[in-house]
Amino acid sequence: MYVVAITGGIGSGKTTVANQFAALGIDVIDADVIARDVVKPGTPALAAIAEHFGAAMLGEDGTLDRRALRDRIFNHPEEKQWLNALLHPLIRSEMLRQCAAASSPYCLLVVPLLVENKLTSLANRVLVIDVDEETQIVRTCRRDGVSREQAQAILAAQASRAERLAAADDVLDNQNGSSETISARIFALHQTYLVFASQQAHQH
Ligand code: ADP
Repeated sequence: MYVVAITGGIGSGKTTVANQFAALGIDVIDADVIARDVVKPGTPALAAIAEHFGAAMLGEDGTLDRRALRDRIFNHPEEKQWLNALLHPLIRSEMLRQCAAASSPYCLLVVPLLVENKLTSLANRVLVIDVDEETQIVRTCRRDGVSREQAQAILAAQASRAERLAAADDVLDNQNGSSETISARIFALHQTYLVFASQQAHQH
């Protein structure tokens, strides 16, 4: 399967753009959804978390209390490392499994922290959704109802625009231009990926 990874900072437009690829018939796989699924009640990973950090990590209904876990690993790099060592391989193999099972000519893998978690090698092609930081802040505040300071803090914890662009094979400008112009850019990328995917299929 030819895999196009799509990434971008918070509020850059990953979800919006991925929805347009989906409307073109492309299977979209979302790393955030997988990250939640691997710790659902009944999973070995959730049991391991409860054993390591205690039952206080579970809510009344047996689901993971994400806030409690976040607070628990905040300022504890070794605990964060333990958690990542547990979850990252599970998330990675589930992403690969879902990509392999995709039925469209290529698939789109949405990975918000692709650059931060060094996952670029999972994909044949990396598409970065690019807007400037001010646009990220304005769109995030409007969407999530958070303060400017909160949005800035989230941005600061993520890779910089320059770091993301350095990892890009393709860059989608989701800031300048009308929605029609941006849709046309997406359609052009889609055509390119169809060609790449069929070239790869013919090589095998
Ligand atoms: P991400 O998934 O990267 O966090 P979203 O796709 O949720 O970003 O987009 C962030 C916000 O910006 C959403 O409210 C979305 O509707 C809006 N948005 C996305 N693309 C554009 C655009 N080209 N122009 C204006 N607003 C946009």
